[in-house]
Amino acid sequence: MDLKFLKGVGEKRAEAFSKIGINSPEDFLNFIPRAYLKKISIREIPANLNENVIVSGKVIDLEHPRKSNHPYRIILKDNTGTVSIPLFGASEFRSRQFRLNDSFIFWIKTDRDNFSSVPKISYRDHLKINESEINDTEFMKFRLIPVYELSGILKKTWIKPLLLSKIVFNAFSALLRSNPDYIEETLPEDILKRYKLSGKKEAVLRINFPVEFPDIEFSRKRLSFEELFYLELILALKKKSLQNEKKGIKFDNDIHAITEKFKSVLQFELTASQKKVMNEIYLDMKSDKCMNRLLQGDVGSGKTIVAVFSMLIAIENGYQAAFMCPTEMLAGQHFRTISELLKPLDIKVELLVGGQKKKIREGILADIRSGKTDLIIGTHALFQESVEYRNIGFVVIDEQHKFGVMQRAKLKEKGINPDVLVMTATPIPRTLSMTYYGDLDVSVIDELPKNRIPVITALRSESDKPGINSFIRKEIKKGRQVYIIFPIIDESEKLDLKSAEENFSILKRQVFPDLKVGMVHGRMLWYEKDEETEKFRKGELDILVSTTVIEVGIDIPNASVMIIEEAQRFGLSQLHQLRGRVGRGADQSYCILVAKDLSEDSSRRLEILCKTNDGFKIAEADMAIRGPGEFFGIRQSGMLNFSCTDLNKDRDIVETAREIAFKIIDEDPQLRKKEHIRIKKAFLKNYKDSLYLTDIA
Ligand code: ADP
Ligand code: MG
Repeated sequence: MDLKFLKGVGEKRAEAFSKIGINSPEDFLNFIPRAYLKKISIREIPANLNENVIVSGKVIDLEHPRKSNHPYRIILKDNTGTVSIPLFGASEFRSRQFRLNDSFIFWIKTDRDNFSSVPKISYRDHLKINESEINDTEFMKFRLIPVYELSGILKKTWIKPLLLSKIVFNAFSALLRSNPDYIEETLPEDILKRYKLSGKKEAVLRINFPVEFPDIEFSRKRLSFEELFYLELILALKKKSLQNEKKGIKFDNDIHAITEKFKSVLQFELTASQKKVMNEIYLDMKSDKCMNRLLQGDVGSGKTIVAVFSMLIAIENGYQAAFMCPTEMLAGQHFRTISELLKPLDIKVELLVGGQKKKIREGILADIRSGKTDLIIGTHALFQESVEYRNIGFVVIDEQHKFGVMQRAKLKEKGINPDVLVMTATPIPRTLSMTYYGDLDVSVIDELPKNRIPVITALRSESDKPGINSFIRKEIKKGRQVYIIFPIIDESEKLDLKSAEENFSILKRQVFPDLKVGMVHGRMLWYEKDEETEKFRKGELDILVSTTVIEVGIDIPNASVMIIEEAQRFGLSQLHQLRGRVGRGADQSYCILVAKDLSEDSSRRLEILCKTNDGFKIAEADMAIRGPGEFFGIRQSGMLNFSCTDLNKDRDIVETAREIAFKIIDEDPQLRKKEHIRIKKAFLKNYKDSLYLTDIA
């Protein structure tokens, strides 16, 4: 059916609707209301509440204003009473709009007015209806009226909300009149029954036109289940195809000999958690399955050493390994510590980053090509076209959340099929990792090395500066070192950089003229940053002023105090990452959050950090505050654009949907069984196109 023939639409509106991709009545079926308005009788209009409600009735009088700043008034009557609704604007126009004896529904808002028993009413919207419609039609039968939000270029004012609701309703009626089974079921009967979910048609109808309030949540849950079920189904298929695609490498040389070698250079005992994940990784490596594993662990939990052990296994089996880092600074640090560690084992480690001298770079590339180099550490430069490996068998991606999407796809483009270990320190709430990283196997390090003392965190204001500065001096006198972080959230932000540099010079010249103060920021060249951090590492600097470039990975155990300026500007997870730079040694560490103009909201937010050091708890709170997309910095990721799901609320649904979807694909990867026909059909019809969205990591 052509949209323009739908009741209430017409030529002009149809044209405008097409601008936001609505071309036929069917397109309204994907609408989800943003809110609902309760329909009440006039007598029920609440006297002392702020509430939006709908009333309907017949116009029995029209009052023209006596003064120009008074409103025009409509007296509306239903069979319980009358109400006077004020309307501002030209009364000429109003009297053409509203005529005596016509019937309308009105959206009104009642306001609290403690001094009067008569409710204060303001007008929001209206819709003319036939008298017979008031009691008869389906649209008026329901107690709740949906309100929709139009997206994109169509402004709210373009189509009035009540008219839009009516149009959506008309679309539903027209479609279902022509074919009562138009909305097809997408989930198998046994799943519906087992999880007490309503049918698809019922859910779509009731979320739009609920009879009573509980209908809304009941229907939303059903639709959310469907969304998550098909997402997990896609992830399960993806995982299956990764496994089947190509055989992985069997790293099955004598593991005891390799372990002994590793132990001979290790300066500490691995934690139980590190051993556990090491075992999970090794089982994958040993088998011919191609590993795609996510290693999660809070900052400072010791992921690097696990990666090194895994790479050593690959190398001792005759393969090359690559370690990819998000920043050159971090690559530089890993290069130094790892080559130092592996020196006694006669393993050749190289650093490959942008900006190396041509001659040096060519030498490095030649050694990678010939296989002389065993372990290559670098940035994403590692997988540029110019880099040829002799036989790469293992790839580690450190701090994966900093890379954004598509890294694994890039590896594939290079035509290699190594085992991949993805590491992330951003503890991801479980619901989110099950969706976002859903096709990876997950290992979690859930304890910190034993010698750690929890960081003490405090929230202070600008006026506490003198006290903070003398605390800094005291700690430096004890032999500790201090980070001072200035917020440059976006490294291209010139103003922030300027103020960080000014602050640096004030600290250096006026506040701590007797101490050695250095600075790093994102605009410096990598070897300049590297030089400065190395000075700090060697103890040649007492204070390192820095932007968030040190957020990821930097490991300098003697630095035990961190001051974070303008802490209110950071997200919680980011602050936790920053704080993770201290508390890495055996000394008591401190993190002082200095906040400017603290609002009640942001101080409540920052207090969370003072109360806990548990990255997972912080991540949950962060996600609840900022939403899943913002949390990842991937607002545009289609994958997390749910229309009915709220990951904060629907944890149970994620878990159940995942369990069922993976089980089904495991038993019946082609969806050939009779009981899966419905799933296959719905998948091919509605969800197949989303397959590419999962191509992440
Ligand atoms: P992250 O998981 O944040 O990447 P790192 O791998 O940088 O953490 O480890 C943090 C620090 O802890 C490093 O200095 C590392 O040498 C040390 N470390 C790692 N594992 C252990 C352990 N089992 N016992 C003691 N120290 C450890
Ligand atoms: Mg790390």
